[in-house]
Amino acid sequence: MGSMSEQQRQREHEIHSALQCSGLWHESAYINGRWCQNECTFPVNNPATGTQLGLVTALDKEQVDEAIEGAAHAFKTWRDMSAEARGDILNRWHTLILEHQDELARIMVLEQGKTLSEAQGEIAYGASFVHWFAEEGKRAYGETMPSHIPNAQLMTFREPIGVAALITPWNFPSAMITRKAAAAMAIGCTVIVKPAEETPFSALALAHLADMAGIPAGVFNVVTGEPKMIAEQLCHSTLVQALSFTGSTRVGRLLLSEAANGIKKCAMELGGNAPFIVLEQGDLNFAVQQAVAAKFQTSGQDCLAANRIFVPRAQYEGFLQRFSHLMAQLNVGDGLEANVDLGPLINRAAVEKAHQLVHDALDKGARLVAGYQPDDQSLFFMPTLLADITPEMRVYREENFCPVAGVIAYDSLDEVLTMSNDTEYGLAAYVYGDHLPSVWRCIHALNVGMVSVNSVKMTGHPIPFGGTKQSGLGREGSRHGFDDFSELKYCCLGNVYDTSP
Ligand code: NAD
Repeated sequence: MGSMSEQQRQREHEIHSALQCSGLWHESAYINGRWCQNECTFPVNNPATGTQLGLVTALDKEQVDEAIEGAAHAFKTWRDMSAEARGDILNRWHTLILEHQDELARIMVLEQGKTLSEAQGEIAYGASFVHWFAEEGKRAYGETMPSHIPNAQLMTFREPIGVAALITPWNFPSAMITRKAAAAMAIGCTVIVKPAEETPFSALALAHLADMAGIPAGVFNVVTGEPKMIAEQLCHSTLVQALSFTGSTRVGRLLLSEAANGIKKCAMELGGNAPFIVLEQGDLNFAVQQAVAAKFQTSGQDCLAANRIFVPRAQYEGFLQRFSHLMAQLNVGDGLEANVDLGPLINRAAVEKAHQLVHDALDKGARLVAGYQPDDQSLFFMPTLLADITPEMRVYREENFCPVAGVIAYDSLDEVLTMSNDTEYGLAAYVYGDHLPSVWRCIHALNVGMVSVNSVKMTGHPIPFGGTKQSGLGREGSRHGFDDFSELKYCCLGNVYDTSP
């Protein structure tokens, strides 16, 4: 893949124009129910073609403060609505998101590069959180405790924390917003979303639909512009009570220290380095097919991507052969084209990092089994299979975030479990096999937030998504998704009974 064909150019132009006419395409920030601009903008490009898609408003400090004040004001009434009424509004948002699934998916493909079917899947996945939390808000129960104080009743309530700042990444430009915002808004918080500068259009389209759904002004805001300045305004404001971030561990660390001064409640969904363990007893063909899926979704730019694939030594060469056979069938190209499995990487820096990871591994003794085009400097990176990965290599240590699969042979369950945990990350792990004692041992021993056994699909609205170690703090989705956006208020109601004679 290299330069853009005339046909591709024409198709991109038609889709872009249609989206602009749909009303969903916005280049202004959305603050307090209004679309806000100023003279300062930043460009957003299509990674598949290099075309500039638009110039998006870069807010100044005063405008970010305006968003914070608007959200704080809106909180006063939003928090006091019944959970039922908030749920009705959120369910209207859910319906509108699904009604516009195709347009939202096309916006995502244009700015992010993933394939249209992956983008459609992400819109449905993202919408599912809105419906889930709209309903779950009605069940945000407190509790009563048997009292240790004579003549008293003890109880807790779950209360919304206030204004929540949501900072999100480019790899899932829609679902990472709804997974946070739906939980926060359902419990009664108001939110300020700061999307990644690579993918603001998906966030702004969600704002358009939030407005159509009747979400009151100030409850859902999208601020665009310079990330560091915006994050500082959000972290330093006394009106913001919570910070929920999804992104790299490096930026998560910076934001935690920014938020420390104001003792903000912080949730961090950070990077991963998922082991994919193939056990001795099991269906090898199935494991290979699933490893390919777990590695190459979103072109490998997925926090859940299989980052290190461990295979028993006796099955190692067979695994590599079958993996490279399946890998050869993957098509790389513009995500809008039919039969494309992998879109481009997000930007030049991502491609450079992918090349560096491969060179580093080859220099340290890895074996290139298939794929890789060293001279291809385009954003379309060939799926690549490296064998004989070792802990000294960057591809083993770092979150790869590219379509490079690293495979390692192992000799014992003890060894593979030690290697799997030999990372600063602890987001997710995959285990493949049907020997229950070995499977159970892995579930128990793996130091991660999520273990998926014999299934590449693990995430969704009912499950608590999140990691251990430097993969983050807190959980998103499920009933636990409210925890980071709420406080437990305890009340001791004394002298309950009239004990006078
Ligand atoms: P990133 O950390 O570079 O950026 C994430 C967000 O932080 C963006 O909105 C960006 O504008 C902002 N940001 C960047 N630098 C900043 C700074 N100095 N101060 C304040 N804000 C700043 O991450 P990314 O490249 O957008 O996304 C990829 C990362 O996200 C990967 O590490 C991936 O594992 C992680 N991720 C994690 C999950 C999860 O649920 N655990 C899900 C998706 C992605």
